[in-house]
Amino acid sequence: MEQTLYIVVPCYNEEEVLRETAKRLRQKLEDLIKSRSINKNSRVLFVNDGSKDGTWEIIKSLHAECSLFSGVNLTRNRGHQNALLAGLMTAKDRADMIISMDADLQDDINAVDKMIEKYYGGCDIVYGVRSSRKKDTFFKKFTAEAFYKIMSLLGCDTVFNHADYRLMSKRALEDLAAFGEVNLFLRGIVPMIGYKTDKVYYDREERFAGESKYPLKKMIAFALEGITSLSSKPIRLITLCGFSVFLISIVMIIYFVIRWAIGATTIGWASVVCSVWFIGGLTMLSLGVVGEYIGKIYLETKHRPTYLIESVVEDDD
Ligand code: UDP
Ligand code: MG
Repeated sequence: MEQTLYIVVPCYNEEEVLRETAKRLRQKLEDLIKSRSINKNSRVLFVNDGSKDGTWEIIKSLHAECSLFSGVNLTRNRGHQNALLAGLMTAKDRADMIISMDADLQDDINAVDKMIEKYYGGCDIVYGVRSSRKKDTFFKKFTAEAFYKIMSLLGCDTVFNHADYRLMSKRALEDLAAFGEVNLFLRGIVPMIGYKTDKVYYDREERFAGESKYPLKKMIAFALEGITSLSSKPIRLITLCGFSVFLISIVMIIYFVIRWAIGATTIGWASVVCSVWFIGGLTMLSLGVVGEYIGKIYLETKHRPTYLIESVVEDDD
């Protein structure tokens, strides 16, 4: 039996690309239905993230033209991650598998076939991973790759070179719904869900029209969001830093005491320097310790599920 596929596409001021995107996605969906990979209830679900241009009008007219298109309209702009989540949560009640992708089709839509294949092969999550960024500008490539490296150094584990192009099964999305996160960083949360997962590689293309809605400023904000919502490693760094400064001050004190004993010091200098380092280190260390507790409280308030059950075997009676 073929299953239902929903393709979720968040759109923010995408009037320049939307018609072309819709055309290509419709072709893809029709091909998949024809080849009996998916059934006729499958849809493309556009999420209008409070666009200021004619994006929603286009979505409505697409829906009027063809029943394969549906749309969700958010009350205002809430950002890519929230728009995507809105789409995923809407789609999970209607579909068996859901693929999310960007409106500019920078991510090769032919990878969809492989994702579906892996889904039927038993995977609940299939990540789309960029095998090359040749078409990205040097700046974008550099900042994006630095982004993944720094993130993982700071304790935020993500799939390298994977953005939000992925397939998720209905049950994986139901589990995602159990994460009551407000600071939403899907790339970090999805790997926490578990189940059998796999990757599909593709080449990333250029945006065929319009411009990026992710300027550097938003990328930095996004990276900070990811780090602070997933890990308390930055706090640990403060603690470590404070501890090192404190140790250095101890070494200094010993050194100056020895110099004082052999009578080779300038009066007043050593005591000032030592106190500055000693107090400085102690202050940072205490800040770090307080921070550790705040970090714990922070993670507690997220009310993340501590486990998710895949299946239970038991007797009926
Ligand atoms: N997007 C959104 N809300 C926003 C910003 C972006 O829904 O506030 C959508 C946008 O329409 C696109 C996707 O997020 O479908 C990725 O944006 P973009 O292609 O501009 O980012 P880039 O590929 O340059 O990182
Ligand atoms: Mg893009």
